Amino acid sequence: MLIFSAFTNKPSKSKLQLKVETLAEQIEAKVIKWRHHLHEHPELSNREYETAEYIATHLKSLGLEVQTGVAHTGVVAVLKGGKDGPVVALRADMDGLPVPERVDLPWASQAKGVYNGAEVPVMHACGHDTHISILMGTAEVLSGVKSELRGTVKFIFQPAEEGAPKGEEGGAQLMVKEGVLKNPDVEAIFGLHIGADTHVGNINYKPGGAMASSNSFEITIHGKQTHGSRPWAGIDPIVTAAQIINNVQTIVSRSMPITKEAAVVSFGSVHGGVRSNIIPEEVKLVGTIRALNEEMRQEIFKRLKTIVEKTAESNGATATLEINEGYPITYNDIELTNRMLPTLKDVMGDDHVTLKPAKTGAEDFSFYQKEVPGFFFWLGGCPLGTPEKEAAPHHTPDFYVDDAAMIYGVKVMSRLVVDYMDIN
Ligand SMILES: [Zn+2]
Ligand SMILES: [Zn+2]
Repeated sequence: MLIFSAFTNKPSKSKLQLKVETLAEQIEAKVIKWRHHLHEHPELSNREYETAEYIATHLKSLGLEVQTGVAHTGVVAVLKGGKDGPVVALRADMDGLPVPERVDLPWASQAKGVYNGAEVPVMHACGHDTHISILMGTAEVLSGVKSELRGTVKFIFQPAEEGAPKGEEGGAQLMVKEGVLKNPDVEAIFGLHIGADTHVGNINYKPGGAMASSNSFEITIHGKQTHGSRPWAGIDPIVTAAQIINNVQTIVSRSMPITKEAAVVSFGSVHGGVRSNIIPEEVKLVGTIRALNEEMRQEIFKRLKTIVEKTAESNGATATLEINEGYPITYNDIELTNRMLPTLKDVMGDDHVTLKPAKTGAEDFSFYQKEVPGFFFWLGGCPLGTPEKEAAPHHTPDFYVDDAAMIYGVKVMSRLVVDYMDIN
């Protein structure tokens, strides 16, 4: 129930809302301690063994039903509230990256791991340590109001968001495949990402396409090999490749409705030939496609195929196109986003919740959103003393996010659950 304050005409917080926020404040120091531990001991994708154990130990201590070994190293816990209601899922990703930490911290990482067969330094250079500790804290807060909860909460700790090692399955896609959204069936899912370039105390969000789909593609162009001095005796796949690369530029610039959403097609590698006087038989091109709207994404696939095949044909060559399955669009359900916006504003303050343009990076949270309505947003992690523009980007050795962000994360995640169940 919402009670309206006589002075501001704004709804004041319900007893349960106040209680979860107070509980969050009471465990702030503990959440920061967990964060430091996790930051100091990062593990690579699909190798989050100790991380999983650390999480599971905490969840069991709260008396939750805990399942381990989900999608390799994932941990899932269920909290059944005292009252009937919907099943709401919260997700945190768990993996670190092969990046050497350069930040001067007592809890800086010195960890090593094995990536592509070589030993590498490992760092939580995307801030997933903050996601884990925020969700561990949220589990503790919500366990503290168990009897008052109108529904069930599923805590999803997911491995390998950054991508499974070569030849392995992993991440959100495998979690979904292993039935993480079923039994009990999830009705809505929430997730956040810490942002190094947004000041602590702020949240950025976008309804609809918030982060792009990502599909890599490979084009193989077949010509006919000949002496470099006698091009007429063969079919030149290099000239064909050049034309394909140029023609592909018209997909976004000439045929995408770019005022609706952004889209990107980029080439990342071109390979063909061995020496100056041989026109080779084959050229390979590799690239990536990013889209924020599913129709536009499908149209890009279609246009790319036509351009590749017809350009090759016009040169007498042949070409094949392979587009990998990739990541879907991180699509924030519009109705759910609008419904939960007042919660974000109530926790952070009206001026601290900002609608932002989409990002062309991808997030595997999108796999959950393909199954159930979901809302994914960005939580500020930049220390207030650092200008946002000077913050080191994610995935770099100087990446740093502030402990002060943790409390906002725990409050927002807890309130999203409580409020969703109450409005329902
Ligand atoms: Zn990342
Ligand atoms: Zn990340």
